[in-house]
Amino acid sequence: MSISQLARSIAESPTLSLNEQARVLREKGEAVIHLGAGEPKNRAPIAAILSSAAKLTAGDIKYTPTDGIPSLKKAIIRYTEENYDRVVAAENVIVSGGAKQSLYNLLFALLNPQDEVIVLAPYWVSYPEMIKMVYGVPVVVTPEDGSFVPGMKEIEEAVSSYTKAIIINSPNNPSGIMYPEALVADLVRFCERKGIYCIMDDIYHKLVFDGKSAVSAYRFTDRDIESTKVIVINGISKLYGMTGFRIGWVVGPKALVEVMTNIQAQTTSCTSLVLQAAAEGALTGLQSHVETLRLTLENNRNVMLQELASFTGIKTHKPDGTYYCLPDFRAYNAKSVELSKFLLKKALVVTVPGKEFGMEGHLRLSYATTVKDVKQGVERIKWALDPNSPREIYIGDRKHVRDWL
Ligand code: PMP
Repeated sequence: MSISQLARSIAESPTLSLNEQARVLREKGEAVIHLGAGEPKNRAPIAAILSSAAKLTAGDIKYTPTDGIPSLKKAIIRYTEENYDRVVAAENVIVSGGAKQSLYNLLFALLNPQDEVIVLAPYWVSYPEMIKMVYGVPVVVTPEDGSFVPGMKEIEEAVSSYTKAIIINSPNNPSGIMYPEALVADLVRFCERKGIYCIMDDIYHKLVFDGKSAVSAYRFTDRDIESTKVIVINGISKLYGMTGFRIGWVVGPKALVEVMTNIQAQTTSCTSLVLQAAAEGALTGLQSHVETLRLTLENNRNVMLQELASFTGIKTHKPDGTYYCLPDFRAYNAKSVELSKFLLKKALVVTVPGKEFGMEGHLRLSYATTVKDVKQGVERIKWALDPNSPREIYIGDRKHVRDWL
């Protein structure tokens, strides 16, 4: 078969492939615990369900305007005003099939071949692949101090005359860490001084713990929406646990949104009316759903940290938000892909290798699950790795005896 060089160079999504492996094992009746998932176990908000059901019942489901239905865009404009203190126009907003597609269209619109985009490690797995898919070059900056927060100097050193954009994801997938306000401020000012786009992937920005709140990049620019270099990506997947509804959006200058609309018009035409209605319902309905999800995640994060604290040799940075933490497992195995496979085989626990996020030696553990799964999942990992833990464990209703340590 003749496959293009570019297509061949694009890696499989490790998280989606792990979901598939877990599904196959579960179908075989195995008691798999999924600490790999980027989605919570909640039901979609009722307002979202009713609003999409109304469209289905009416049965009049046709193409919509490419950039999104006006009522959803209105809800996004209100969301932007309430959460970012920015008044934007409908022409500053484009709705796509998930924040993933928003980001892809955005990179497509911004990059010339060989343009560079700075990606801060640990990073979301899809950034480098998407940059490559539009013939750009990902330039990864890894914090030298072993933290998950890059220094401004490290970032500046990675910038060249080809740098088109920097992607910032805070709170961060996979580390859960939120960048300090001073770093976000410095990044925005640096980008605007240099004419580099500052892409804020804000998909987790309201899922923040310990009474903290995420920093809006707009706070650090005096420029209006048409001339700022700040571009914000957001969506309903993480905020409302509505991953399957596939709605995300970009807020940016009109000229950029216009180009992105052309790209979308020639590829997907528009996102589904049913799903846009669901997103509108979620955004305009009762917001207690978000707080309930946030509290559940904060509690689960606490349980996970407690469990990990009794694990000899494991180092963890306390996550400020998101669904994840990224403990350092180098005391057991520095090769995260090997370790993740081992844990799936022996302990039937799904984890995501840190290597996929540019942080070898770490594993991403998701606490977007039940407290029971968080506890049992970490207990099983401990059993599989830590010689100080009891040799026998029940996985499902079967007793397993460790014979490899
Ligand atoms: N950005 C980040 C950092 C994410 O973690 C994800 C989902 N895992 C996305 C974007 C994409 O979200 P969506 O489901 O809206 O495509």
